[in-house]
Amino acid sequence: MALVNKIIPFSCIDGPGNRTAIFFQGCNFKCTYCHNPETINKCVNCGKCVKVCPVNALNIVEKKVIWNDKKCVACDACIRECDHLSTPKTKDYSVDELFDEIKQVSPFIQGITVSGGEATLNIDFLTQLFKKVKEELGLTCFVDTNGSIDLTQHEEFVNLTDKFMIDIKSMDKEEHTKITGLNNDIVIKNLKYLLDLDKVYEIRTVIAPNLDNKNTVREASKIINNRCKYKFNIYRHHGVRKEGLDFHGSDSPCEEEINKCYKIYNESIL
Ligand code: SF4
Ligand code: SF4
Repeated sequence: MALVNKIIPFSCIDGPGNRTAIFFQGCNFKCTYCHNPETINKCVNCGKCVKVCPVNALNIVEKKVIWNDKKCVACDACIRECDHLSTPKTKDYSVDELFDEIKQVSPFIQGITVSGGEATLNIDFLTQLFKKVKEELGLTCFVDTNGSIDLTQHEEFVNLTDKFMIDIKSMDKEEHTKITGLNNDIVIKNLKYLLDLDKVYEIRTVIAPNLDNKNTVREASKIINNRCKYKFNIYRHHGVRKEGLDFHGSDSPCEEEINKCYKIYNESIL
């Protein structure tokens, strides 16, 4: 079983073509600038959110918080009430149940993309799912990851994955730890490993205030060496929790900083 936060049946922003995007609940990074901090932890069933639901879509059954998606009006009051960077709006899926959801829309999509949270925390589940999706539906399987699970140890999963999208938060070990809570040793190891296998669709870096963005772009560009797309996402404060706002502020990075990053990247591919 795996805990899923959300399924978007048709997405055109999660890889090439029209794809079903599946967002798993739970992440081992706690990024300061995360826009969906409620996906970080799994619910601990404290019950605090139940009483704020205006339509009684949340109930406690045998000490577990149960979400009724038919009643839910998506007001997000429960998420605002939660102190655990979590949400009650998740569902446990077996491989077969998730496969059935994908099968229903399969004539209209090119493939699936798993994301999060951090999808690769469910690597055995994903391996089984990808096998079935490829064998029975012939769809491509993409993974959007923070790169924190050592993929050199999961050859079958890597072989089954068509392409990865990887976030490079920072190339500096200390800064990476400050942003995410963990260092970047495995992320960089994965980046090199997957690039050498030609398994990377896209690398992304968030350009944010109070980070050494230029160093990250410079050092990442050297490793990428023009072998895949390198995309910059510009920090926006919307949805960022207080800790992140204290660190990065409310303003997006200035145009000069963004242009310098583009210049560094462009010089690296000349
Ligand atoms: S988002 Fe849904 S479950 Fe949460 S409080 Fe609003 S109606 Fe209730
Ligand atoms: S979602 Fe948060 S507030 Fe609601 S029961 Fe779970 S941990 Fe408690």
